[in-house]
Amino acid sequence: MSRHNHLATTPITIRTHRCGALTATALTQGIHTRVDLTPLNPTGEAHALITGRQTYTLTRTGLVHRDIEHIAGGSLRGPVLADHVCGRPIPAAHRAVTAQPAPQPAVVGCPF
Ligand SMILES: [Zn+2]
Repeated sequence: MSRHNHLATTPITIRTHRCGALTATALTQGIHTRVDLTPLNPTGEAHALITGRQTYTLTRTGLVHRDIEHIAGGSLRGPVLADHVCGRPIPAAHRAVTAQPAPQPAVVGCPF
C-alpha cells in the first residue's frame, strides 16, 4: 500500500452506473466516491444530508467533501453534488437553478 497516496483526490470520471444513471466517480481524500451529476440548491443539500447522503463540491481537481465548515462558510465555489443512491434521483425542487436557454424566435417560412 502506497503510504503517500492514501488521501489522494483524483479528477472525476463520468460513468453510467448499473442502474442507468449518469454519475461521476473519483477518489476523494482516498475514499471511492460516486455522486449524481445533478447540482443541488441549498434545500437539496439539506435534504441530502438529513437523508444520510454526503455532499461534495466539484472543483477543477476533483470532489471536495463538504463538512460543516464548508457548508456554513460557503467558501468553496462549484456545483454541490450528493452521493449517488440508485433509484433516488434528485427531485426538481432540489436542483440548483441553471441558466435557461434563451427563447428562440420562431421562424415561419423562408426569411429571405
Ligand atoms: Zn445507481
